[in-house]
Amino acid sequence: MHLLVVEDDRKLGRLLRRMLEDDRHVVELATDGKSGLEIALDAQGIEAMILDLGLPDMSGLEVAREVREAGSELPILVLTARDTVGDRVTGLDAGADDYLVKPFAYQELAARLRALSRRSSSGLKRPGPRLISGPIALDESTRRVMVDGLAVDLTPREFALLECLLRHPGQVMSRDQLLDQAWPYGVTVTLNAVDAYVHYLRDKLGAAGGHIETVRGVGYRMAAS
Ligand code: CA
Repeated sequence: MHLLVVEDDRKLGRLLRRMLEDDRHVVELATDGKSGLEIALDAQGIEAMILDLGLPDMSGLEVAREVREAGSELPILVLTARDTVGDRVTGLDAGADDYLVKPFAYQELAARLRALSRRSSSGLKRPGPRLISGPIALDESTRRVMVDGLAVDLTPREFALLECLLRHPGQVMSRDQLLDQAWPYGVTVTLNAVDAYVHYLRDKLGAAGGHIETVRGVGYRMAAS
């Protein structure tokens, strides 16, 4: 597997990397939360993260939470020295998939990693990447839209419009841009169609429709939440 290890204890980090590499994993090592988070969100192909909770700049809990808030499903195995029920629950709530209490045997870490990789490839996945603005959540993998946790039924065109607006929160999207991105290539529609569909979309979103702001003479903007 291609793994990311976030561990500020350099000796332990290097030891983990060597043992994992001996097991034919490819390992990226980060020694603080910020760089770990960057690699977790930006690097291509990372399949799991081994995350220490006690880090110098931000806690592992915050790292896990931010990874999840960014919509990533990256499996996270938390390493913690604090073996209390509260810490475990907090870690799992923050988005960790499993945890291991220090000190641990390498064999146990290896076994947990195998279980994580089985779970993430067996389809028992958490919800896919989500675009969120206030009460509106759009799941790109299941193509479902929820407002305040309740499903909203959208036509494919309404869905595409909403997706396009949510992808650029706070940014004004001209009607031309929306046409380009939410209508199939080659379909001839007028700019008025964009207004009409935004109107339908707002209606279906109810009170949350107010998150789609009109920018007079230009287009529309999804309120940054
Ligand atoms: Ca530490």
